[in-house]
Amino acid sequence: MIAVDLFRDRAVALFGLGGSGLATAEALAAGGAHLRVWDDAEAARSEAARRGLEVVALGEVTWRELEALVLAPGVPLTHPEPHWTVRLAHAAHVPVVGDVELFARQRRATCPTAPFVAITGTNGKSTTTALIDHLLRAAGRDAQMGGNIGRAVLSLDPLDPSRTYVVECSSFQIDLAPSLDPTVGILTNLSEDHLDRHGTMTAYAAIKERLVEAAGTAVIGVDDSLSAEIAARIEAEAHTVVRISATQDLADGVFARGSAIVVAEGGRETIVADLTGIGSLRGRHNAQNACAAVAACRALGLSTGEIAAGLATFPGLAHRMEQVGRKGRVLFVNDSKATNADSTAQALASFERIYWIAGGKPKSGGITSLGGFFDRIAKAYLIGAASEEFAATLDGRVALERAGTIERALELAAADAAADGAAEPVVLLSPACASYDQFKNFEVRGDHFRALVAAIPGIEGVGP
Ligand code: ADP
Repeated sequence: MIAVDLFRDRAVALFGLGGSGLATAEALAAGGAHLRVWDDAEAARSEAARRGLEVVALGEVTWRELEALVLAPGVPLTHPEPHWTVRLAHAAHVPVVGDVELFARQRRATCPTAPFVAITGTNGKSTTTALIDHLLRAAGRDAQMGGNIGRAVLSLDPLDPSRTYVVECSSFQIDLAPSLDPTVGILTNLSEDHLDRHGTMTAYAAIKERLVEAAGTAVIGVDDSLSAEIAARIEAEAHTVVRISATQDLADGVFARGSAIVVAEGGRETIVADLTGIGSLRGRHNAQNACAAVAACRALGLSTGEIAAGLATFPGLAHRMEQVGRKGRVLFVNDSKATNADSTAQALASFERIYWIAGGKPKSGGITSLGGFFDRIAKAYLIGAASEEFAATLDGRVALERAGTIERALELAAADAAADGAAEPVVLLSPACASYDQFKNFEVRGDHFRALVAAIPGIEGVGP
Protein backbone atom coordinates (compact mmCIF):
# COMPACT_ATOMS: atom_id res chain seq x y z
CA MET A 1 0.00 0.00 0.00
CA ILE A 2 1.10 3.58 -0.64
CA ALA A 3 0.27 5.45 2.58
CA VAL A 4 -0.82 9.02 1.79
CA ASP A 5 0.42 11.31 4.56
CA LEU A 6 -0.44 14.62 2.89
CA PHE A 7 -3.37 15.14 5.26
CA ARG A 8 -1.86 13.96 8.54
CA ASP A 9 -4.13 15.04 11.44
CA ARG A 10 -6.33 16.97 9.03
CA ALA A 11 -9.97 16.32 8.24
CA VAL A 12 -10.81 14.64 4.93
CA ALA A 13 -14.06 13.14 3.63
CA LEU A 14 -14.28 10.25 1.21
CA PHE A 15 -17.38 9.17 -0.69
CA GLY A 16 -17.71 5.89 -2.57
CA LEU A 17 -16.64 2.70 -0.81
CA GLY A 18 -16.22 0.25 -3.69
CA GLY A 19 -12.89 -1.52 -4.21
CA SER A 20 -10.77 1.51 -5.09
CA GLY A 21 -12.62 3.75 -2.60
CA LEU A 22 -11.80 1.37 0.26
CA ALA A 23 -8.16 1.11 -0.85
CA THR A 24 -7.92 4.91 -0.97
CA ALA A 25 -9.52 5.23 2.46
CA GLU A 26 -7.03 2.78 3.95
CA ALA A 27 -4.11 4.64 2.33
CA LEU A 28 -5.32 7.96 3.81
CA ALA A 29 -5.98 6.43 7.22
CA ALA A 30 -2.52 4.80 7.20
CA GLY A 31 -1.05 8.25 6.49
CA GLY A 32 -2.74 9.73 9.57
CA ALA A 33 -5.63 11.65 8.02
CA HIS A 34 -8.68 12.27 10.14
CA LEU A 35 -10.92 10.54 7.65
CA ARG A 36 -14.70 10.24 7.51
CA VAL A 37 -16.15 7.92 4.88
CA TRP A 38 -19.62 7.35 3.46
CA ASP A 39 -21.47 5.47 0.74
CA ASP A 40 -25.16 5.29 -0.14
CA ALA A 41 -25.10 1.50 0.14
CA GLU A 42 -25.49 0.01 3.61
CA ALA A 43 -23.34 -3.05 2.72
CA ALA A 44 -20.43 -0.82 1.65
CA ARG A 45 -20.67 1.19 4.88
CA SER A 46 -20.65 -1.99 7.01
CA GLU A 47 -17.56 -3.27 5.21
CA ALA A 48 -15.81 0.07 5.80
CA ALA A 49 -16.74 -0.01 9.51
CA ARG A 50 -15.52 -3.60 9.76
CA ARG A 51 -12.15 -2.40 8.46
CA GLY A 52 -11.96 0.21 11.20
CA LEU A 53 -12.82 3.24 9.07
CA GLU A 54 -14.89 6.04 10.58
CA VAL A 55 -18.26 5.94 8.83
CA VAL A 56 -20.02 9.31 9.18
CA ALA A 57 -23.07 10.70 7.35
CA LEU A 58 -21.34 13.34 5.21
CA GLY A 59 -24.56 15.35 4.91
CA GLU A 60 -24.11 16.26 8.54
CA VAL A 61 -20.41 17.19 8.85
CA THR A 62 -19.04 20.75 8.91
CA TRP A 63 -17.76 21.00 5.37
CA ARG A 64 -15.63 24.12 5.76
CA GLU A 65 -13.41 22.22 8.22
CA LEU A 66 -12.50 19.66 5.54
CA GLU A 67 -9.20 19.78 3.60
CA ALA A 68 -10.54 17.71 0.73
CA LEU A 69 -13.34 15.55 -0.56
CA VAL A 70 -11.94 12.35 -2.06
CA LEU A 71 -14.33 10.88 -4.60
CA ALA A 72 -14.37 7.37 -6.01
CA PRO A 73 -14.05 7.53 -9.82
CA GLY A 74 -17.54 6.14 -10.43
CA VAL A 75 -19.22 9.08 -8.67
CA PRO A 76 -20.36 11.95 -10.97
CA LEU A 77 -18.27 15.11 -10.66
CA THR A 78 -20.12 17.07 -13.34
CA HIS A 79 -22.39 14.92 -15.56
CA PRO A 80 -25.22 14.21 -15.69
CA GLU A 81 -25.13 16.36 -12.56
CA PRO A 82 -22.71 16.79 -9.67
CA HIS A 83 -23.13 14.31 -6.84
CA TRP A 84 -24.59 15.81 -3.64
CA THR A 85 -21.21 15.58 -1.88
CA VAL A 86 -19.65 17.56 -4.75
CA ARG A 87 -22.26 20.31 -4.34
CA LEU A 88 -21.55 20.50 -0.60
CA ALA A 89 -17.78 20.58 -1.28
CA HIS A 90 -18.09 23.36 -3.86
CA ALA A 91 -20.33 25.42 -1.57
CA ALA A 92 -17.68 25.20 1.19
CA HIS A 93 -14.71 25.68 -1.24
CA VAL A 94 -13.35 22.23 -0.46
CA PRO A 95 -11.20 20.72 -3.27
CA VAL A 96 -12.51 17.51 -4.83
CA VAL A 97 -9.87 14.93 -5.80
CA GLY A 98 -9.49 11.25 -6.65
CA ASP A 99 -7.01 8.49 -5.92
CA VAL A 100 -4.75 9.20 -8.92
CA GLU A 101 -4.37 12.81 -7.72
CA LEU A 102 -3.39 11.58 -4.26
CA PHE A 103 -0.84 9.24 -5.83
CA ALA A 104 0.60 12.06 -7.97
CA ARG A 105 0.89 14.42 -4.98
CA GLN A 106 2.39 11.77 -2.70
CA ARG A 107 4.93 10.82 -5.35
CA ARG A 108 5.88 14.46 -5.93
CA ALA A 109 6.28 15.08 -2.21
CA THR A 110 8.17 11.95 -1.23
CA CYS A 111 9.60 10.10 -4.26
CA PRO A 112 9.63 12.28 -7.39
CA THR A 113 12.22 10.12 -9.15
CA ALA A 114 10.01 7.01 -9.21
CA PRO A 115 9.05 6.70 -12.90
CA PHE A 116 5.30 7.14 -13.42
CA VAL A 117 3.59 6.19 -16.68
CA ALA A 118 -0.03 7.28 -17.07
CA ILE A 119 -2.16 5.88 -19.90
CA THR A 120 -5.45 7.10 -21.29
CA GLY A 121 -7.44 7.14 -24.56
CA THR A 122 -10.87 6.02 -25.70
CA ASN A 123 -9.63 2.55 -26.71
CA GLY A 124 -6.58 0.44 -26.01
CA LYS A 125 -5.88 1.71 -22.49
CA SER A 126 -5.77 -1.68 -20.78
CA THR A 127 -3.84 -3.42 -23.54
CA THR A 128 -1.23 -0.63 -23.67
CA THR A 129 -0.95 -0.55 -19.88
CA ALA A 130 -0.54 -4.31 -19.60
CA LEU A 131 1.97 -4.35 -22.45
CA ILE A 132 4.15 -1.65 -20.85
CA ASP A 133 4.03 -3.51 -17.55
CA HIS A 134 5.04 -6.69 -19.33
CA LEU A 135 7.90 -5.05 -21.27
CA LEU A 136 9.28 -3.51 -18.08
CA ARG A 137 9.10 -6.77 -16.16
CA ALA A 138 10.60 -8.74 -19.02
CA ALA A 139 13.52 -6.28 -18.88
CA GLY A 140 13.92 -6.94 -15.16
CA ARG A 141 12.33 -3.74 -13.86
CA ASP A 142 10.08 -3.60 -10.81
CA ALA A 143 6.83 -2.53 -12.52
CA GLN A 144 3.68 -1.73 -10.55
CA MET A 145 0.53 -1.80 -12.65
CA GLY A 146 -2.82 -0.46 -11.48
CA GLY A 147 -5.37 2.32 -11.57
CA ASN A 148 -8.29 1.60 -13.86
CA ILE A 149 -6.92 -1.92 -14.39
CA GLY A 150 -6.22 -4.53 -11.71
CA ARG A 151 -5.16 -3.02 -8.38
CA ALA A 152 -6.28 0.41 -7.17
CA VAL A 153 -3.37 2.81 -7.57
CA LEU A 154 -2.90 3.34 -3.82
CA SER A 155 -2.77 -0.38 -3.13
CA LEU A 156 0.38 -0.72 -5.24
CA ASP A 157 3.70 -1.35 -3.46
CA PRO A 158 5.16 1.64 -1.55
CA LEU A 159 6.83 4.41 -3.53
CA ASP A 160 10.46 3.68 -4.29
CA PRO A 161 12.80 5.24 -6.87
CA SER A 162 13.48 1.78 -8.33
CA ARG A 163 9.78 1.08 -8.97
CA THR A 164 7.99 2.15 -12.15
CA TYR A 165 4.28 2.87 -11.71
CA VAL A 166 2.18 2.06 -14.78
CA VAL A 167 -1.25 3.55 -14.20
CA GLU A 168 -4.28 3.31 -16.48
CA CYS A 169 -6.48 6.38 -16.10
CA SER A 170 -10.11 6.67 -17.13
CA SER A 171 -11.35 10.15 -17.99
CA PHE A 172 -13.17 10.10 -14.67
CA GLN A 173 -9.89 9.62 -12.84
CA ILE A 174 -8.18 12.39 -14.83
CA ASP A 175 -11.10 14.69 -14.08
CA LEU A 176 -10.35 14.16 -10.40
CA ALA A 177 -6.57 14.64 -10.80
CA PRO A 178 -5.85 18.35 -11.37
CA SER A 179 -2.08 18.07 -10.84
CA LEU A 180 -1.33 14.91 -12.81
CA ASP A 181 2.36 15.01 -13.84
CA PRO A 182 3.52 11.62 -15.13
CA THR A 183 7.05 10.95 -16.34
CA VAL A 184 5.45 9.56 -19.50
CA GLY A 185 1.84 10.35 -20.40
CA ILE A 186 0.12 8.36 -23.16
CA LEU A 187 -2.97 9.24 -25.16
CA THR A 188 -3.75 6.34 -27.50
CA ASN A 189 -6.72 7.79 -29.42
CA LEU A 190 -9.97 9.71 -29.07
CA SER A 191 -13.43 8.84 -30.31
CA GLU A 192 -16.93 9.38 -29.02
CA ASP A 193 -17.49 7.60 -25.73
CA HIS A 194 -18.84 8.39 -22.30
CA LEU A 195 -20.36 11.66 -23.48
CA ASP A 196 -23.03 11.04 -20.85
CA ARG A 197 -20.34 11.70 -18.23
CA HIS A 198 -18.54 14.60 -19.91
CA GLY A 199 -21.14 16.48 -21.88
CA THR A 200 -19.47 17.35 -25.17
CA MET A 201 -16.65 15.82 -27.19
CA THR A 202 -14.66 19.02 -26.60
CA ALA A 203 -14.98 18.61 -22.84
CA TYR A 204 -14.06 14.92 -23.09
CA ALA A 205 -10.97 15.64 -25.23
CA ALA A 206 -9.91 18.46 -22.89
CA ILE A 207 -9.92 16.07 -19.95
CA LYS A 208 -7.82 13.51 -21.83
CA GLU A 209 -5.43 16.28 -22.91
CA ARG A 210 -4.69 17.08 -19.28
CA LEU A 211 -2.98 13.71 -18.84
CA VAL A 212 -0.39 14.46 -21.52
CA GLU A 213 0.06 18.21 -21.12
CA ALA A 214 2.12 18.05 -17.93
CA ALA A 215 3.95 14.84 -18.78
CA GLY A 216 7.75 14.75 -19.04
CA THR A 217 7.27 12.92 -22.34
CA ALA A 218 3.88 12.97 -24.06
CA VAL A 219 3.19 9.93 -26.29
CA ILE A 220 0.23 10.70 -28.53
CA GLY A 221 -1.56 8.66 -31.20
CA VAL A 222 -2.08 10.90 -34.21
CA ASP A 223 -4.45 8.68 -36.21
CA ASP A 224 -7.50 10.73 -35.24
CA SER A 225 -7.72 14.46 -35.77
CA LEU A 226 -8.52 15.44 -32.18
CA SER A 227 -5.44 13.66 -30.81
CA ALA A 228 -3.28 15.04 -33.64
CA GLU A 229 -4.39 18.56 -32.68
CA ILE A 230 -3.51 17.88 -29.07
CA ALA A 231 -0.01 16.72 -30.11
CA ALA A 232 0.54 19.90 -32.11
CA ARG A 233 -0.72 22.12 -29.30
CA ILE A 234 1.42 20.50 -26.64
CA GLU A 235 4.51 20.56 -28.82
CA ALA A 236 3.96 24.25 -29.52
CA GLU A 237 4.19 24.75 -25.75
CA ALA A 238 7.71 23.25 -25.89
CA HIS A 239 6.80 19.90 -24.37
CA THR A 240 8.48 16.69 -25.51
CA VAL A 241 6.03 14.86 -27.77
CA VAL A 242 6.47 11.43 -29.34
CA ARG A 243 3.86 10.84 -32.04
CA ILE A 244 2.68 7.32 -32.76
CA SER A 245 0.71 5.97 -35.69
CA ALA A 246 -0.65 2.64 -36.90
CA THR A 247 -1.70 4.03 -40.28
CA GLN A 248 0.97 6.43 -41.56
CA ASP A 249 4.74 6.74 -41.74
CA LEU A 250 6.16 9.49 -39.54
CA ALA A 251 9.41 11.43 -39.95
CA ASP A 252 9.69 11.54 -36.15
CA GLY A 253 7.96 9.13 -33.84
CA VAL A 254 7.00 5.47 -33.62
CA PHE A 255 4.82 3.95 -36.31
CA ALA A 256 3.68 0.63 -37.75
CA ARG A 257 4.57 -0.18 -41.36
CA GLY A 258 2.89 -3.49 -42.11
CA SER A 259 3.85 -5.67 -39.17
CA ALA A 260 7.08 -3.75 -38.44
CA ILE A 261 7.27 -1.27 -35.56
CA VAL A 262 9.54 1.53 -36.71
CA VAL A 263 11.21 4.27 -34.69
CA ALA A 264 11.94 7.38 -36.76
CA GLU A 265 14.23 10.14 -35.57
CA GLY A 266 14.79 13.05 -37.94
CA GLY A 267 13.88 10.80 -40.86
CA ARG A 268 16.32 8.03 -39.79
CA GLU A 269 14.45 4.77 -39.28
CA THR A 270 15.12 1.80 -37.01
CA ILE A 271 12.93 -1.29 -37.04
CA VAL A 272 12.40 -2.18 -33.39
CA ALA A 273 10.29 -5.29 -33.77
CA ASP A 274 8.09 -7.32 -36.08
CA LEU A 275 4.67 -8.29 -34.78
CA THR A 276 4.22 -11.20 -37.20
CA GLY A 277 3.41 -14.31 -35.22
CA ILE A 278 2.64 -12.46 -31.98
CA GLY A 279 -0.96 -13.61 -31.62
CA SER A 280 -1.70 -11.36 -28.65
CA LEU A 281 -0.92 -8.28 -30.77
CA ARG A 282 -2.84 -9.05 -33.93
CA GLY A 283 -4.62 -6.28 -35.77
CA ARG A 284 -4.05 -2.61 -36.62
CA HIS A 285 -5.46 -1.50 -33.28
CA ASN A 286 -2.87 -3.57 -31.42
CA ALA A 287 -0.14 -2.16 -33.65
CA GLN A 288 -1.18 1.25 -32.30
CA ASN A 289 -1.02 -0.09 -28.74
CA ALA A 290 2.41 -1.61 -29.43
CA CYS A 291 3.70 1.70 -30.85
CA ALA A 292 2.56 3.48 -27.69
CA ALA A 293 4.24 0.91 -25.46
CA VAL A 294 7.46 1.02 -27.48
CA ALA A 295 7.57 4.83 -27.29
CA ALA A 296 6.99 4.76 -23.52
CA CYS A 297 9.59 2.08 -22.85
CA ARG A 298 12.19 3.90 -24.94
CA ALA A 299 11.53 7.02 -22.89
CA LEU A 300 12.10 4.90 -19.77
CA GLY A 301 15.46 3.70 -21.08
CA LEU A 302 14.73 0.17 -22.30
CA SER A 303 16.94 -1.01 -25.14
CA THR A 304 15.63 -2.07 -28.55
CA GLY A 305 16.62 -5.66 -27.76
CA GLU A 306 14.74 -5.63 -24.45
CA ILE A 307 11.63 -4.21 -26.11
CA ALA A 308 11.67 -6.72 -28.98
CA ALA A 309 12.14 -9.66 -26.61
CA GLY A 310 9.31 -8.48 -24.37
CA LEU A 311 6.85 -7.96 -27.24
CA ALA A 312 7.35 -11.55 -28.38
CA THR A 313 6.26 -12.94 -25.02
CA PHE A 314 3.24 -10.68 -24.28
CA PRO A 315 0.45 -13.01 -23.15
CA GLY A 316 -2.30 -10.48 -23.98
CA LEU A 317 -5.33 -9.67 -21.89
CA ALA A 318 -8.26 -11.94 -21.24
CA HIS A 319 -11.39 -11.33 -23.34
CA ARG A 320 -9.67 -9.06 -25.90
CA MET A 321 -9.04 -11.20 -28.96
CA GLU A 322 -7.75 -13.80 -26.55
CA GLN A 323 -6.63 -16.95 -28.34
CA VAL A 324 -8.14 -19.68 -26.21
CA GLY A 325 -7.45 -22.81 -28.22
CA ARG A 326 -6.48 -24.40 -31.49
CA LYS A 327 -7.69 -27.62 -33.05
CA GLY A 328 -5.99 -28.53 -36.28
CA ARG A 329 -6.07 -25.36 -38.38
CA VAL A 330 -9.00 -23.84 -36.46
CA LEU A 331 -8.24 -21.03 -34.01
CA PHE A 332 -10.72 -20.17 -31.23
CA VAL A 333 -10.78 -16.53 -30.10
CA ASN A 334 -12.55 -15.00 -27.10
CA ASP A 335 -13.31 -11.29 -27.71
CA SER A 336 -16.08 -11.03 -25.12
CA LYS A 337 -14.90 -7.50 -24.19
CA ALA A 338 -16.26 -6.34 -27.57
CA THR A 339 -19.57 -5.03 -26.28
CA ASN A 340 -20.21 -2.68 -29.20
CA ALA A 341 -19.83 -2.71 -32.97
CA ASP A 342 -16.68 -0.52 -32.94
CA SER A 343 -14.78 -3.05 -30.83
CA THR A 344 -16.04 -5.97 -32.90
CA ALA A 345 -14.84 -4.15 -36.03
CA GLN A 346 -11.25 -4.41 -34.70
CA ALA A 347 -11.59 -8.18 -34.36
CA LEU A 348 -13.30 -8.70 -37.72
CA ALA A 349 -10.52 -6.67 -39.36
CA SER A 350 -7.89 -8.94 -37.77
CA PHE A 351 -8.92 -12.30 -39.27
CA GLU A 352 -9.62 -13.48 -42.82
CA ARG A 353 -12.07 -16.37 -42.51
CA ILE A 354 -14.44 -16.01 -39.58
CA TYR A 355 -17.11 -18.17 -37.97
CA TRP A 356 -18.64 -15.40 -35.94
CA ILE A 357 -20.58 -15.82 -32.69
CA ALA A 358 -22.45 -12.59 -32.00
CA GLY A 359 -25.36 -11.22 -30.04
CA GLY A 360 -26.47 -10.49 -26.51
CA LYS A 361 -28.13 -7.34 -25.31
CA PRO A 362 -27.96 -5.05 -28.37
CA LYS A 363 -26.62 -1.49 -28.40
CA SER A 364 -28.22 1.24 -30.49
CA GLY A 365 -27.13 1.04 -34.12
CA GLY A 366 -26.63 -2.72 -33.86
CA ILE A 367 -24.13 -4.08 -36.41
CA THR A 368 -25.11 -1.94 -39.40
CA SER A 369 -21.65 -0.28 -39.31
CA LEU A 370 -19.91 -3.65 -39.83
CA GLY A 371 -21.01 -4.17 -43.45
CA GLY A 372 -17.47 -3.64 -44.76
CA PHE A 373 -16.33 -6.82 -42.99
CA PHE A 374 -19.15 -9.14 -44.04
CA ASP A 375 -17.07 -10.77 -46.80
CA ARG A 376 -14.73 -12.14 -44.11
CA ILE A 377 -17.56 -13.86 -42.28
CA ALA A 378 -18.06 -17.46 -43.43
CA LYS A 379 -21.11 -17.75 -41.20
CA ALA A 380 -22.68 -15.99 -38.23
CA TYR A 381 -24.15 -17.76 -35.18
CA LEU A 382 -26.56 -15.51 -33.35
CA ILE A 383 -27.23 -15.65 -29.63
CA GLY A 384 -29.31 -13.77 -27.10
CA ALA A 385 -31.73 -10.88 -27.35
CA ALA A 386 -30.10 -9.32 -30.42
CA SER A 387 -30.65 -12.37 -32.66
CA GLU A 388 -33.58 -11.07 -34.72
CA GLU A 389 -32.15 -7.56 -35.13
CA PHE A 390 -28.74 -8.92 -36.23
CA ALA A 391 -30.41 -11.50 -38.50
CA ALA A 392 -32.26 -8.68 -40.26
CA THR A 393 -28.98 -6.81 -40.87
CA LEU A 394 -27.14 -9.91 -42.12
CA ASP A 395 -30.01 -11.37 -44.13
CA GLY A 396 -29.03 -12.08 -47.74
CA ARG A 397 -25.43 -10.95 -47.16
CA VAL A 398 -23.99 -13.44 -44.66
CA ALA A 399 -24.99 -17.06 -43.98
CA LEU A 400 -26.43 -17.24 -40.51
CA GLU A 401 -27.93 -19.48 -37.92
CA ARG A 402 -30.00 -18.57 -34.87
CA ALA A 403 -28.10 -20.59 -32.27
CA GLY A 404 -29.70 -19.10 -29.16
CA THR A 405 -26.94 -19.98 -26.69
CA ILE A 406 -23.14 -19.82 -26.71
CA GLU A 407 -23.01 -23.61 -26.22
CA ARG A 408 -24.99 -24.31 -29.37
CA ALA A 409 -23.23 -21.56 -31.33
CA LEU A 410 -19.80 -22.97 -30.47
CA GLU A 411 -20.84 -26.51 -31.34
CA LEU A 412 -22.11 -25.41 -34.79
CA ALA A 413 -19.23 -23.03 -35.48
CA ALA A 414 -16.53 -25.55 -34.49
CA ALA A 415 -17.98 -28.19 -36.82
CA ASP A 416 -18.32 -25.75 -39.74
CA ALA A 417 -14.82 -24.32 -39.24
CA ALA A 418 -13.29 -27.81 -39.08
CA ALA A 419 -14.75 -28.55 -42.51
CA ASP A 420 -13.35 -25.31 -43.99
CA GLY A 421 -10.27 -25.64 -46.18
CA ALA A 422 -8.87 -22.18 -45.36
CA ALA A 423 -5.39 -21.87 -43.83
CA GLU A 424 -6.72 -20.58 -40.50
CA PRO A 425 -10.49 -20.60 -40.00
CA VAL A 426 -11.30 -18.65 -36.83
CA VAL A 427 -14.18 -19.28 -34.44
CA LEU A 428 -14.63 -15.83 -32.98
CA LEU A 429 -16.81 -14.81 -30.05
CA SER A 430 -17.06 -11.04 -30.56
CA PRO A 431 -20.62 -10.25 -29.53
CA ALA A 432 -20.95 -6.52 -30.40
CA CYS A 433 -23.42 -6.54 -27.52
CA ALA A 434 -23.59 -6.24 -23.76
CA SER A 435 -23.88 -9.55 -21.99
CA TYR A 436 -26.57 -8.78 -19.45
CA ASP A 437 -29.36 -10.74 -21.16
CA GLN A 438 -27.58 -14.07 -20.57
CA PHE A 439 -24.56 -13.35 -18.33
CA LYS A 440 -23.59 -11.23 -15.33
CA ASN A 441 -20.93 -9.35 -17.32
CA PHE A 442 -18.55 -9.73 -20.27
CA GLU A 443 -15.96 -11.50 -18.10
CA VAL A 444 -18.39 -14.25 -17.09
CA ARG A 445 -19.45 -14.61 -20.74
CA GLY A 446 -15.82 -14.88 -21.89
CA ASP A 447 -14.83 -17.27 -19.08
CA HIS A 448 -17.76 -19.48 -20.03
CA PHE A 449 -16.71 -19.51 -23.68
CA ARG A 450 -13.11 -20.29 -22.76
CA ALA A 451 -14.22 -23.22 -20.59
CA LEU A 452 -16.43 -24.57 -23.37
CA VAL A 453 -13.55 -24.38 -25.83
CA ALA A 454 -11.19 -26.09 -23.37
CA ALA A 455 -13.65 -28.99 -23.18
CA ILE A 456 -13.59 -29.63 -26.95
CA PRO A 457 -11.90 -33.03 -27.49
CA GLY A 458 -8.47 -32.65 -29.06
CA ILE A 459 -8.17 -28.90 -28.34
CA GLU A 460 -4.68 -27.49 -27.76
CA GLY A 461 -3.54 -24.37 -25.93
CA VAL A 462 -2.10 -21.37 -27.77
CA GLY A 463 1.02 -19.47 -26.69
CA PRO A 464 1.49 -15.69 -26.98
P1 ADP B 1 -9.78 0.02 -22.98
O1 ADP B 1 -9.04 -0.30 -21.73
O2 ADP B 1 -9.49 1.41 -23.48
O3 ADP B 1 -11.24 -0.29 -22.94
P2 ADP B 1 -8.71 -2.44 -24.12
O4 ADP B 1 -7.24 -2.49 -24.29
O5 ADP B 1 -9.30 -3.14 -22.95
O6 ADP B 1 -9.18 -0.92 -24.14
O7 ADP B 1 -9.39 -2.98 -25.46
C1 ADP B 1 -10.80 -3.11 -25.51
C2 ADP B 1 -11.25 -3.29 -26.93
O8 ADP B 1 -11.04 -2.07 -27.65
C3 ADP B 1 -10.47 -4.35 -27.68
O9 ADP B 1 -11.09 -5.60 -27.56
C4 ADP B 1 -10.49 -3.84 -29.10
O10 ADP B 1 -11.71 -4.23 -29.70
C5 ADP B 1 -10.53 -2.34 -28.95
N1 ADP B 1 -9.20 -1.70 -29.04
C6 ADP B 1 -8.07 -2.01 -28.33
N2 ADP B 1 -7.06 -1.20 -28.67
C7 ADP B 1 -7.55 -0.33 -29.59
C8 ADP B 1 -6.98 0.76 -30.31
N3 ADP B 1 -5.72 1.15 -30.15
N4 ADP B 1 -7.80 1.41 -31.18
C9 ADP B 1 -9.09 1.05 -31.36
N5 ADP B 1 -9.67 0.03 -30.71
C10 ADP B 1 -8.92 -0.66 -29.83
